[in-house]
Amino acid sequence: MAKNLSVKKSKIEIVRAPDGIEGQGFFATSLDKVIGLARKNSLWPLPFATSCCGIEFMATMASSYDLGRFGAERLSFSPRQADLLLVAGTISKKLGPTLRQVYEQMAEPKWVMAIGACASSGGIFDSYSVLQGIDRIIPVDVYVPGCAPRPEQIIEGLLKIQELAANESLKRRDSQDYKRMLESYGIDIK
Ligand code: SF4
Repeated sequence: MAKNLSVKKSKIEIVRAPDGIEGQGFFATSLDKVIGLARKNSLWPLPFATSCCGIEFMATMASSYDLGRFGAERLSFSPRQADLLLVAGTISKKLGPTLRQVYEQMAEPKWVMAIGACASSGGIFDSYSVLQGIDRIIPVDVYVPGCAPRPEQIIEGLLKIQELAANESLKRRDSQDYKRMLESYGIDIK
């Protein structure tokens, strides 16, 4: 029993305060950093899982790996209540418009992770019916390699997304560069 407890303890993530100025009874930092800290540790993923990589994602969510350690255990199946789109599996060209609609329905700020070879590049399915990477229709922030990637790799991808969320400037989503990037995908900017 005691052994089990110590294993659980070692899995607890320590959330560190952002860089700032500290003195007796006060701590000061920038608004960007505080919001980045909150976003980083409260990602709400929407799993768009279509095939075998989705099974690896299920293992990632289960108790042995446990995305709850990173504050990301609250999965959403509504795009309006998610800020991290996890695409795991083969995406056929016929399914492409649905994936894009889900992406467009997510509010800003949002991030996208392509899990596995199929989502990243079409994988072994170099065929007329399979999308050769979801970045042909939506922007991708992090690619996780593998066929299928192990849960450790998916967690590594999540850590990279956390890094992006923590360090993103609050002005980025309103910048001309970001708008131009969305326009290059033909995504409407409202
Ligand atoms: S990358 Fe491999 S494991 Fe993942 S969906 Fe494609 S074929 Fe399946």
